[in-house]
Amino acid sequence: MAIERTLSIIKPDAVAKNVIGKIYQRFEDAGLKVVAAKLVQLSALEAGQFYAVHKERPFYKDLVNFMISGPVMIQVLEGEGAIAKNRELMGATDPKKAAPGTIRADFADSIDANAVHGSDAPETAAVEVAFFFPGMNVYSR
Ligand code: ATP
Ligand code: MG
Repeated sequence: MAIERTLSIIKPDAVAKNVIGKIYQRFEDAGLKVVAAKLVQLSALEAGQFYAVHKERPFYKDLVNFMISGPVMIQVLEGEGAIAKNRELMGATDPKKAAPGTIRADFADSIDANAVHGSDAPETAAVEVAFFFPGMNVYSR
């Protein structure tokens, strides 16, 4: 499998719970490396652009408001099959349906406050990494 990069966000609920380190531990234990990171407060414009794919969905406004409700920790993870591996670590979107031992099962409270974001495909990963880390070169190798 190829070395990939994926965009991960620890959402405001998990940052507020002070579990950034615990979530990073899971990335590291799974062989994923943090190759870029920043703690930021997103603007409504940034959060809206980032989740633009969901613009027509009924939950879009709540999603944007949630993502700007506090600081988020944004990182690029690198490793073998990083995109799928991170999605596995995260668990299902709805924490009630997330497999035991996943980040969302252990740290998320609801489908809105669900602790983490992860890119879902190579195309979205490339776009999302460039969105938050525009100065970062992304090589396919
Ligand atoms: P993310 O993109 O944040 O990693 P995801 O890929 O698991 O999550 P998406 O379908 O991309 O899920 O939805 C983006 C976010 O929108 C979800 O993380 C969740 O907070 C919210 N969301 C998705 N579906 C619903 C829903 N049916 N009701 C409320 N909120 C939802
Ligand atoms: Mg998604």
